[in-house]
Amino acid sequence: MRFLATDHGQGLSKITREIVPAGMISNTTMNEDETYMREALAEAERAARQGEVPVGALVAAPSGDIIARAHNQPIGLNDPTGHAEILALRQAGAVVANYRLPGHVLYVTLEPCVMCVGAAADCGRCAYGGWRRR
Ligand SMILES: [Zn+2]
Repeated sequence: MRFLATDHGQGLSKITREIVPAGMISNTTMNEDETYMREALAEAERAARQGEVPVGALVAAPSGDIIARAHNQPIGLNDPTGHAEILALRQAGAVVANYRLPGHVLYVTLEPCVMCVGAAADCGRCAYGGWRRR
């Protein structure tokens, strides 16, 4: 799993295996990352409208197709694991009929929590838009 921080901030090494600057990813460009991140931000807006913490996520397949998208719903689902990343990864796993997602990219608007980092371990890459406050 490779993590990409789209804003090139500090502190990523605490939770990630590898830091890869945007534009250095094979078959992915910064413009593509931005396009996907805008879609993830639209999901975050849905979360905000529902009174949830505004986080959105999506999963892009190796083909480039978006195969899953979700927003934070722990309050609405009464589910402490109802984070956007978890919900998107569950959808993606169902779509490909596999719990592993090699070559897929998880886009999330906010640096994933520890639970979501673990859940994304079998994803090819995770790109996130903002840093979690420490
Ligand atoms: Zn999480």
